[in-house]
Amino acid sequence: MLSTYIPSIIKFNEKEKSTKNMKEDHFYIVILILLLISGCSYSGKENHPKNKDIEIHFSPNIRNAKNNPEQKILKKWESFLHKNRYYEWDSEDLVCSMKMPYPMMPLQEVINKDVLVHHYMNILGIYPIDSNLYCIKNSLITQNTDTIYPAYQFSVFAKLEYKNIRFISNPQLVKTKWQHQKVGNIDYYYDCNDDLNMKDAIYFDRFNDELAAKFGLEPIEFDYFQCKYSRNVFDVQGFDLHPGKYFSNQTGGMADTYNHIIYAGNGKAIYTHELVHLYSMQRWKNSHIWFDEGLATYLGGSRELPFEWHLTELNKFAKAYPDYQFSDIDTLLYFKNDSFDLQFKYNIGALVIKEIIEKHGFEYLDNVMGQGKETEDFYRILEKSLGVKKEDIDDWVRKKVALFRE
Ligand SMILES: [Zn+2]
Repeated sequence: MLSTYIPSIIKFNEKEKSTKNMKEDHFYIVILILLLISGCSYSGKENHPKNKDIEIHFSPNIRNAKNNPEQKILKKWESFLHKNRYYEWDSEDLVCSMKMPYPMMPLQEVINKDVLVHHYMNILGIYPIDSNLYCIKNSLITQNTDTIYPAYQFSVFAKLEYKNIRFISNPQLVKTKWQHQKVGNIDYYYDCNDDLNMKDAIYFDRFNDELAAKFGLEPIEFDYFQCKYSRNVFDVQGFDLHPGKYFSNQTGGMADTYNHIIYAGNGKAIYTHELVHLYSMQRWKNSHIWFDEGLATYLGGSRELPFEWHLTELNKFAKAYPDYQFSDIDTLLYFKNDSFDLQFKYNIGALVIKEIIEKHGFEYLDNVMGQGKETEDFYRILEKSLGVKKEDIDDWVRKKVALFRE
């Protein structure tokens, strides 16, 4: 899902052999940071609601904000939160004009996924930005059996328009404040103190055309937020606090495939890996993540490095750990080299995709992508495409990756 790029020449030869000089980086929304908050008043709750509805609490400061329009805004915001359908950010009853799931989308995923934990949404405050624009500060608190921690703190905005209240996300607001430059099919947004490298932008637009031709689709028009560091991506999305915000490796990016937005945290105008995600998601829904990340890494690199580099690193790891087993993919997360945590779904995924394309051609991916997200789907498709059974993956990976030497 997340990644970054740098300028480079990318050419696809006729046999789909390789991408060249590509660089990309990833940061990951992974596990929620276990920050215990002090003085939290929610411990001791034993009977958690069984449904997915979150509990909503208002700061006393807000209760004291008696004046309209604050109360009216908060009532509508509370009603939206209770619906627990944050993807409907643009639904008509909210009178929102754009599909913009950040910052709400990650929250929805956390709330829906973690069945054993309980969530509290604290509405911390509301204050005016100007005469018709208000900022609402929220904090999602998550509680499992013995831990309470703040998962996210984020802002949304409410704009008064005649008799309506329209909620606006931070990315929408940033678009009105940052510099804007359209280059081909790319709408670049970048900070007023920042510059856009036109050479890179033109190159990336050309890369977009190449991908469109490869995927048999029209070139995708997309927004591109150029941020200096990955933490700035979260700033743009409206997160004051996010579990992925302060990783030590502050380069990375994110593709919003729903709205065709790339958030680049590499300070550059190129982010090839994430653009591949926009195309693969448009052509195929419901792909196993190893195939999806494998394809994005094969065509767009990862961590600002081409897939060949990743396979060379994988080879080094495989040689260093001859007893390590690659066959049970659900147990495989990442290995470390000197600089990065390298996830197996990117490097082994890229190896699998490379072998499939070299054997069958790019169009064969219709039999690979969009064919199911479950682990069993991965094994089934791998065996059908390359004749590699689950129990043989370990031998197969070691044999194939051995060809990638420094
Ligand atoms: Zn990715």
